[in-house]
Amino acid sequence: MIRTRFAPSPNGSLHLGHAYSAVVAHDLARAGGGAFLLRIEDIDGTRSRPELAGEFRADLAWLGLEWDGAVVVQSQRLAAYAAAGERLKAMGLLYPCRCTRAEIAAAATAMGPDGPVYPGTCRDRAVDPEGAAWRLDVAKAAALAGPLAWTDALAGVQAATPGIFGDVVLLRKEAPASYHLAATLDDAADGITLVTRGADLFAATHVHRLLQALLGLPVPAWHHHGLLVESDGRKLAKRRGSALAGFGLADRRRAGEDGRALATALRAHRFPAGISLAERLDGCP
Ligand code: GLU
Repeated sequence: MIRTRFAPSPNGSLHLGHAYSAVVAHDLARAGGGAFLLRIEDIDGTRSRPELAGEFRADLAWLGLEWDGAVVVQSQRLAAYAAAGERLKAMGLLYPCRCTRAEIAAAATAMGPDGPVYPGTCRDRAVDPEGAAWRLDVAKAAALAGPLAWTDALAGVQAATPGIFGDVVLLRKEAPASYHLAATLDDAADGITLVTRGADLFAATHVHRLLQALLGLPVPAWHHHGLLVESDGRKLAKRRGSALAGFGLADRRRAGEDGRALATALRAHRFPAGISLAERLDGCP
């Protein structure tokens, strides 16, 4: 049976783009008679604001979107992330790295979906692992896993190209696990069969597919939906202040707007002035 999830990070208030994403995940689950889960991705200790999780629940309820079962909270699953990290270390696929962002930017020769591609500086170096981040040796891991493919409901079958990010960080200094590792493990642990999320995370799926192969996890299907963009073509973003510009869900809820009517409008692709749906983004086929 279909199981989807909505997995916001509590580092800023939810905005219309999140509402659209939640509606898509919720409706796909309900259309298939399946389950819709809510997961709070709160392991980025430097940016996480725990009090926002309660706001997120209130925002979803206001939109008329009911989730099934208990809310999944990533900070309660640290042991599982650490165990997977140890497994990958034992397979000889992780190495410690102490490079700073500035060092990586200075040494990088290629750009990836998330910015400068880590040039492999520490791959063959003796690095003190104490307090270091651990990176996945992607070439070694991909060679071990062999050719991989995954399926997006809208874009079709994709050959996995996890190397586009370079050697990604899986275990972090300031957080126990990176997004890639935690999200992949959680989707498996929660029996998610259709991973629904915005097309801005399309490329990340190449890495997730590799992690599934390495860790022997089930392989779901994916549905990367188009993103809501402002009139300048840029996606709504918490950090750009989109939430404060009138697109924030909590503000609209408190102002007395009808959340169910908003969800209905989003379903029909009726968006407020200045907002539209971008079906295709860079990085998507
Ligand atoms: N936590 C991520 C975000 O808020 C979403 C991750 C996912 O859906 O895989 O952008």
